[in-house]
Amino acid sequence: MMEHLHLKLRFTLYSAFHTTGNRWRWAADKALAMSPDGDYVIPATTLKGALRERAETLLRTWGLDVCTGPTPETMCADANNLCPACQVFGNPRFPSPLRFQDGRFGPDTVAQIRSGVSISRQRRAALPRRLFFVETTSPGPLEAISTSEGYFPDRASALQACALVTLAARWISAVGGGRTRGLGWIEKVEVQATLNDEPVPQEELEALWHKWAGGHHVAED
Ligand SMILES: [Zn+2]
Repeated sequence: MMEHLHLKLRFTLYSAFHTTGNRWRWAADKALAMSPDGDYVIPATTLKGALRERAETLLRTWGLDVCTGPTPETMCADANNLCPACQVFGNPRFPSPLRFQDGRFGPDTVAQIRSGVSISRQRRAALPRRLFFVETTSPGPLEAISTSEGYFPDRASALQACALVTLAARWISAVGGGRTRGLGWIEKVEVQATLNDEPVPQEELEALWHKWAGGHHVAED
C-alpha cells in the first residue's frame, strides 16, 4: 500500500508580498501572480523553492551532504543515492513525490502599486537608474494557505518528507521577491500533517530532526 501524505501550510506574513506573475496590469511593470479564479497567490514553485532553500541550509549546517542547484549538472544524478533535499523536493531529473499547490491569499486581499528605483547592471546604460512600479499585496498581517500531498512507497520516506518540509516551514523567514525592500517577510507557518488521514505524531518528526541535527542521514541508520 502506498502511504499518502497530506500537508496543509498556513503562512502568516507581516509585510506586503510580491511575486511577479505573468498577468499584465495597467500602471505596473510587475504584476502579482494570481490564480485562474482571481485570488492572489504565492506560486507553488516559489513556495517550494523557498522551503527547499531553507531545508538545504539547515541540513548543511548540521554537516549533511546536500547537492547544490539549480543546474542539473550539480544536482544528484543517481536515483538510488539522492540527498535528503532531492528525495523530498526532487530535482530536474527526478520529480518530487510531493506536489505543492499555490499558496492562496484570502479573497479579501487588497493589492497596491509601489514604486522603486532599479539600478541597471550594465555600466554603460544610458539610464542607469529607472523608476519602476510593482504591484504588491497590502501590508500584513496576511494569510496564505497552501497544501501539498504525495504518495510514498513506505512510511519512513513519507515521514522524512513530512519532517523536512515542517522543519523548513518553521525556519523560513521570507518568500517571494523584494526581500531587500521589506516584502514577503513571514511571521510564522503552521503545518497540519496527516499520513493516510491520521495526524502525524510530533514525536516521530522530532526523532528525525534529532538524527539530522546529529549529522546522520536517515538512510545510514
Ligand atoms: Zn540532491
